[in-house]
Amino acid sequence: MEKICVAVRMRPPVTEEASDGTHWKVEDNRISLHKSLGTPISGVSYAFDHVFDQDCTNARVYELLTKDIIHAAVEGFNGTAFAYGQTSSGKTFTMNGSENDPGIIHRAVKDIFTKIQTITDREFLIRVSYMEIYNEEINDLLAVENQKLQIHESLERGIFVAGLREEIVNSAEQVLKLIQSGEVNRHFGETNMNVRSSRSHTIFRMVIESKGKDINSSSGYSSSDDAIRVSVLNLVDLAGSERIAKTGAGGVRLKEGKHINKSLMILGNVINKLSEGAKQRGHIPYRDSKLTRILQPALGGNAKTSIICTVAPEEVHIEETKGTLQFASRAK
Ligand code: ADP
Ligand code: MG
Repeated sequence: MEKICVAVRMRPPVTEEASDGTHWKVEDNRISLHKSLGTPISGVSYAFDHVFDQDCTNARVYELLTKDIIHAAVEGFNGTAFAYGQTSSGKTFTMNGSENDPGIIHRAVKDIFTKIQTITDREFLIRVSYMEIYNEEINDLLAVENQKLQIHESLERGIFVAGLREEIVNSAEQVLKLIQSGEVNRHFGETNMNVRSSRSHTIFRMVIESKGKDINSSSGYSSSDDAIRVSVLNLVDLAGSERIAKTGAGGVRLKEGKHINKSLMILGNVINKLSEGAKQRGHIPYRDSKLTRILQPALGGNAKTSIICTVAPEEVHIEETKGTLQFASRAK
């Protein structure tokens, strides 16, 4: 079992705050809460594989948390990278990035195509899909007509989302265009796109298939490397982790909130089980939510996983930030 890599990333403040309040301090790989004048608050200090402060770039996050997963995926290993955190803490910034500092998805796609060009003795076939899970319903972001898709399992295909569009792709540019069209679909019919995106999980998936080129066929030589390798890579922008009570929601919002809290809790349970030693592990509740079920083949076992927990620096968000750090701690 691969160790799960857990990082915390703090975004820059959006509002000017008086600096004499309770505040977070990032030092090396530790984040801790301090009172005014810098006195540490005991018990509120957490260490992770990495803790990134507000000046950290997506380039660095990619380098330290995702690059190895992407390279392993090209070699045939499954992998998943998540962004977890409350709404407005920087999940989408981390996954999608900005004009000047492209996010993890963009970098992963470019990196994969660059990487496979250097591997001359194998042939690659790459497929992408893009989906959202909203209220425990799976919708296809590459084909708006594909709504409420079901998860199936077969001997041949393993666990799969039936009817999900998979596009065969040949270049990074092509993939990035597909993602753009997916974003448009995601907002289809929504008056406020941020509302929807903060309440759904989105999974961008690449399936990388490769086969050894038959260079020595005349010699009859065949090594195990000639076998077909298939790996699945998931890059996941999770729904906002904020507690529902705080938003004072009723009706639709309340229903959404319950689904989100439940699926994030189950994700936490699954990851917590995975990060425990094999002996203590016991039953892993993948089947308890659509999210964990879809990701199951690329979580645990030989799969590589990293979790980027994004947090907001502002004092008003301290309770949510603590919640995120507790989630992150359970994943270690
Ligand atoms: P989320 O997806 O978690 O709801 P966003 O990624 O949309 O949050 O971030 C909220 C706002 O903060 C956006 O305007 C985004 O550009 C900005 N932001 C988030 N993280 C960073 C960062 N590390 N550096 C600069 N701006 C950031
Ligand atoms: Mg977002």
